Amino acid sequence: MTNKIQKVKGMIDVLPEDQDIWTRIYQLVFELANFYGFSQIITPVIEKEELFLRSSGRGSDIVQKQMYSFTTKGGERVVLRPEFTPSLVRAYIESLQVKPKPVKLYTQGPLFRYENPQKGRYREFNQFDFEIFGDASPIADALLIQLFSQFLIDIKIKNFFIEINSIGCRSCREKYKTELKKYYRYKIKSLCPSCQKRYKINILRILDCKEEKCQRIRQFSPQIIDFLCDSCKEHFQKLIDVLDEIEVSYVINPYLVRGLDYYSGPVFEFKLGDPGEKDKDDLTLIAGGRFDYLISELGGKDTPAVGGAGGIERIVEIIKNNNIKISPNSTNKFLSKPKTCLIPIGELAKIKVFKILKVFYNKNIRVYQNISGSNLSAELARANKMKIKYALIIGQKEAMDEKIILRDMEKGTQKIINQKEILKEIKK
Ligand code: ATP
Ligand code: MG
Repeated sequence: MTNKIQKVKGMIDVLPEDQDIWTRIYQLVFELANFYGFSQIITPVIEKEELFLRSSGRGSDIVQKQMYSFTTKGGERVVLRPEFTPSLVRAYIESLQVKPKPVKLYTQGPLFRYENPQKGRYREFNQFDFEIFGDASPIADALLIQLFSQFLIDIKIKNFFIEINSIGCRSCREKYKTELKKYYRYKIKSLCPSCQKRYKINILRILDCKEEKCQRIRQFSPQIIDFLCDSCKEHFQKLIDVLDEIEVSYVINPYLVRGLDYYSGPVFEFKLGDPGEKDKDDLTLIAGGRFDYLISELGGKDTPAVGGAGGIERIVEIIKNNNIKISPNSTNKFLSKPKTCLIPIGELAKIKVFKILKVFYNKNIRVYQNISGSNLSAELARANKMKIKYALIIGQKEAMDEKIILRDMEKGTQKIINQKEILKEIKK
């Protein structure tokens, strides 16, 4: 008998019986992208090694131990991409920087990390990824968090919670790192071997260690929240206010730092289970944060950005383990061109728009919005170009009075209606 050939360590086959779940996930990603106005981008699986050295960071686990890197026949150092953000930033700088901001992108596909294979952790795995380039506002952070929550709700994973934190900007983070160094200086020997290394190359990562002894030492360490500068504090507070207003629950985890070098400001993780449960390694389903420096660090124009990604294999496993029944819908929602647009002007109006968006989403009606826009005439011009029939305009006053202006774009007439009556009016 000849030996059978097995798959490479850390790789998995997605068998026919799981295809319905995968198809539904991709369909939902597509629906959410359409509804929230993200355009698809597909980038190569192979990138230059330097891209990740300069973005994910030399001290990150990815670069330290997980890269599938090799030298091509032509002598070039390349890698199989370990994450999406650097690739999307590279593509943005090469081809999309000239477009009007924000540029909202999504992608999905395989990633490769040379990890210790175990449940929920493979060497080839798939993610879906959403990024917003060119919007500095916490509103953009909240939009992504809302989108990812909607994803888990629609895929019928109920027992998840959201952790958020802010890891500050260049200036406040440096001060915090100095304090952390002081705190850990005489405790180094009690840390696990990885954390002993982290102390030198990436001290923030100690906070993220899952080893019990490291978590015990962490208990009394200084917290970044107390070190945030005024502008980081204000940004984080606004994000919290928006999440409260749109009724997305979250817990603040002062030790949430994320494993990559490029984050700044708010970071978030969607985890399975209940807050306070013992933090296990494979419970994070979706994760992301703001990375305002990365684009300029990779040679682009100074552009604020925020993004996040979900691990598809882990999500599929939960769906299977919990016997959740899902299958692809027979038709894709939100494919038709939007006939209506929402134009919020001012911060309060933008917050109110989240709830209105949800109403449209739940009724499967596509509505265009540019939550980053701030200029009424520019937005109306855009609506005209898109052949939008009805514009729903909400300014500061309307936001306070729970009203909205309904403008007939063809006739040029408008009237003020109650926010609650939007759907009735649109259907008329
Ligand atoms: P973790 O802390 O679990 O290693 P990470 O910080 O390395 O995650 P990200 O790079 O932020 O993860 O990726 C986002 C999501 O991608 C994770 O939350 C997880 O769902 C998934 N993911 C990451 N690494 C793997 C892997 N090796 N196998 C399967 N899924 C993965
Ligand atoms: Mg990891």
